[in-house]
Amino acid sequence: MAETLDELRDSLTGDVLVEGDREYERARLCFNLLIDRRPAAIARCVDANDVAAALAFGQARSLEIAVRGGGHNPAGHCAVDDGLVIDLSRMRDVRVDPENGIAQSQGGATWLDFDAATQAHGLVTPGGVVGSTGVTGLTLGGGIGHLTAQHGLTCDNLIAAELVTPSGEIVRASDDQNPELLWGLRGGGGNFGVVVQAEYRLHPLVQVIGGRLEYEGDDVAEALRLFRELANEGPPELSIQAQLGTDASLVPQLVVVPCYTGTGDDPEALGPLRALAGHASDGVRRQGFLEQQRIFDPGYGVDRNYWKGHFVAELPDELIDDLIGCMTALGRPPGGILIESLHGAPKDVAPSSAALGYRDAAFNVSAMASWTDPAHDDESINWARSTASAIEPWSVSGGYANYMQADEPIDRVRAAFGPDSFARLQALKSRYDPDNVLHRNQNIPPLGLDARYSGGLSGAGADGSLCQRPIGFPSVSVPVTNQPMPGTGCGSSALPPSSCRRPAPALMSSTSK
Ligand SMILES: Cc1cc2nc3c(=O)[nH]c(=O)nc-3n(C[C@H](O)[C@H](O)[C@H](O)COP(=O)(O)OP(=O)(O)OC[C@H]3O[C@@H](n4cnc5c(N)ncnc54)[C@H](O)[C@@H]3O)c2cc1C
Repeated sequence: MAETLDELRDSLTGDVLVEGDREYERARLCFNLLIDRRPAAIARCVDANDVAAALAFGQARSLEIAVRGGGHNPAGHCAVDDGLVIDLSRMRDVRVDPENGIAQSQGGATWLDFDAATQAHGLVTPGGVVGSTGVTGLTLGGGIGHLTAQHGLTCDNLIAAELVTPSGEIVRASDDQNPELLWGLRGGGGNFGVVVQAEYRLHPLVQVIGGRLEYEGDDVAEALRLFRELANEGPPELSIQAQLGTDASLVPQLVVVPCYTGTGDDPEALGPLRALAGHASDGVRRQGFLEQQRIFDPGYGVDRNYWKGHFVAELPDELIDDLIGCMTALGRPPGGILIESLHGAPKDVAPSSAALGYRDAAFNVSAMASWTDPAHDDESINWARSTASAIEPWSVSGGYANYMQADEPIDRVRAAFGPDSFARLQALKSRYDPDNVLHRNQNIPPLGLDARYSGGLSGAGADGSLCQRPIGFPSVSVPVTNQPMPGTGCGSSALPPSSCRRPAPALMSSTSK
């Protein structure tokens, strides 16, 4: 192997990390510590030629290939046991053309890189809310953040991209060249090639009215209802997200994060939420956009994570009560539930412009289990699944690909696009990656082939079969609910039934995943 790896080293301008190298242990890990994989090699590419050489090397040696941008995908798609990681962390340049309002971002740039470069010119594109997330990875799955209502999903602002396909071809996708591929990149994930450069439309913005509104205890339900009304009214100059949590003694807590870009320092629409926040904390103020982008930064990347959620058409009182009940069901702080509003600009875009299919959704609601003790793996995963089951009765358009774990069944991936778009994506996949080399993603199988979910569990997926269990934690075998009825709450067989607000009849029809 050492000799063959020398070949890889010789063919790259960048470098190659293997076990024993000083930086290997850090470079093999991703944001989610639940994923613990040891690649045979990590090729840290510096340009498109390097990417092409790494793709050729991996295929010639039948190595499973993973692509790493910012390393934030909760499924851990960027890591692969015994395979080759194409690591783009040395490709992070962002060039800004302020006259034309365009940014060119290399495939491994993070939002920290992107925002710093664009804000130097007083410009933005709507991106993710955590600086270390990969720009390209986030874009390829959609992209929801602090400016979604104002400027749409991140992928709506993607105007061109340059890819290296598994055959080594460099392809440009834009309105003029391969427009169908550009359509597919707006939501279709890293299925078609390694994006070495993406181009974005920029918008002028320097300051926002933003920050945190915090609530606790009995105020949480009312605050969530006010949050819902505000999002439903849909002022397009206000993006808004809410995150449910608890304190150590399981008192419910809520953080609402508005980002207002209209006129005035005290937006009228926020009045009711701010009045209620008087009971807890109101940190809303005029601040720089870069400051707004740091609101969610602390606390990420140090724990084990399992996320599962649904787009929903509404946020009824019943669901709000269920979600709050779910926060205490585990008997210890389970992590959080993130509720992202999708009002405003995402609805103004012609649905036919992008592959993703959740324009009708009002909110994206995601159970985000996070914990540190491996002994809590089973019950934490179960909490996320059963909380998602409580959300499911209101679901539309499947789940958010950017937050999906690797154990999502193909039907969920298909539902995220709808059958027609999924068929178009499969045709694109057949054209650009007919052998499904790039399958460590929310996989779109080429026509005639089965989906290959990311392997890692005793080679699951390597034979073209669906991985039916979560990867990376083989000891886990927890029941999951199928098709719960409305109002089933967050029941889970790992939890004492009495700890839930409502009984969980759906568990009676549970199946093993
Ligand atoms: C802390 C945290 C915060 C987040 N915040 C947000 C948010 O605010 N909004 C939101 O919408 N999502 C958010 N996400 C989800 C995130 O957008 C997705 O998980 C996304 O896939 C991360 O991209 P990455 O490059 O960082 O991840 P990686 O794990 O490096 O990559 C994930 C996959 O994306 C593909 N990919 C990445 N780069 C390329 C490329 N250059 N070419 C081809 N394929 C590529 C590959 O298939 C790769 O396996 C967040 C995730 C985390 C962990």
